[in-house]
Amino acid sequence: MTENKIRKFYIETYGCQMNFSDSEIVASILTDGGFQASGNLQEADIVLLNTCSIREHAEDRVRKRLHYFRSLKKKNPGLTIGLLGCMAERTKFALMEEEQLLDVIAGPDSYRHLPGLLEQAGSGQRAIDTILSADETYADINPVRLDSNGISSFISIMRGCENFCSYCVVPYARGQERSRDPETVIRESRDLFIQGYREVTLLGQNVNSYFWKEGNETVNFPGLLERIAVLDPQLRVRFATSHPKDLSLEVIEIIEKYPNICKAIHLPVQSGSDKILDKMNRKYTREEYLGKIRTIRSKIPGCAISTDIITGFCDETEEDHKQTLELMKEAAFDFAFTFKYSERPQTIAAEQYEDNVPAPVKERRLREIIELQQELSSASNHRDLGETFEVLIEGESKRSDKQYFGRNSQNKVMVFPKTSLKPGEYVKVKVKRVTSATLIGEAI
Ligand code: SF4
Repeated sequence: MTENKIRKFYIETYGCQMNFSDSEIVASILTDGGFQASGNLQEADIVLLNTCSIREHAEDRVRKRLHYFRSLKKKNPGLTIGLLGCMAERTKFALMEEEQLLDVIAGPDSYRHLPGLLEQAGSGQRAIDTILSADETYADINPVRLDSNGISSFISIMRGCENFCSYCVVPYARGQERSRDPETVIRESRDLFIQGYREVTLLGQNVNSYFWKEGNETVNFPGLLERIAVLDPQLRVRFATSHPKDLSLEVIEIIEKYPNICKAIHLPVQSGSDKILDKMNRKYTREEYLGKIRTIRSKIPGCAISTDIITGFCDETEEDHKQTLELMKEAAFDFAFTFKYSERPQTIAAEQYEDNVPAPVKERRLREIIELQQELSSASNHRDLGETFEVLIEGESKRSDKQYFGRNSQNKVMVFPKTSLKPGEYVKVKVKRVTSATLIGEAI
């Protein structure tokens, strides 16, 4: 390596949208620090894995990937390997001890120090920084858009979480909740629009508790949503994730008011049983949750509602499981992310409860939940037959170069024959056929 060679970095991202957004922040910090982004693993001098700890499965995937990197490092001993994100924060020195190939470990609030940590690792000293911050929001960082389609983009508006759901590592891995200066969010949204982007998704672990105060001025989540919605009617706004206890009537009314705020709400319920919700420390009851669903359905007809469900949590009985299935039917979810409970170290559930639902029972309950959700999703898609939606064209369909794909406001994928319009433009599409995952139509 010559002295002045610019070192190239390659980032692999695991887990949630927040992590993808963080990888863009990391790319920006490293680019400013004199490193160069590369989309090619084989030519990289530095490989960074931005990891997720939310489920055991997510960590297992990273560990498997590290085995592969071990072989790469054998061929190229100069390769620097870094672990970022929640798994780095959770495991700290332990993983570095275990995985001798790791040169750098950086937690979610340490990314500004990455150039220095990588320099240190480049000179042969392993480097670690997992100090959590009470105020880091990376508000001033202009993210480098990685793997971007140039049409939709994520914007982090807050970091951390203080809800302490008993099964969740996030409050430990990402620290306390803090919101980003609204002016920086508005500026980033405006810049993206000027560059041709037509959709932004505002991200946070719990966006509804977004709150900014400076002097006498305060901005809450509906206020921020409104300020972005008015930038331009051609800019679609989405957000994720909402905690049911914090989804206010004010937010629902703002979504209803602006056509460019997408009619899709992700509202993780996790369980339909009050006993389990209490044990999960979710801070709402089944009835309160269903009340919010009824409000959304009455105020915003046609709004898609998706959810997350965890099955097999500690002490979950058949009766609790049945209540989850019944709640799913009553809520008529359009889509659901479904998981088997897996114990995460350091959480309240791991320390205080017994993971006592046998694996085959968890698997069977998960199957029943998935089967029911497939019926609900199919019914939701069939309700769209004959309807016309405004679709933001995202690109060519993977199946045919004669077709476009895009999404409607409800976040459903729609496929239709190409028109003279281009990706990034809006088109009205009438639904002619549906599959379990896609609406197939024609531009009108
Ligand atoms: S709201 Fe609960 S599940 Fe979501 S990140 Fe916070 S602690 Fe985890």
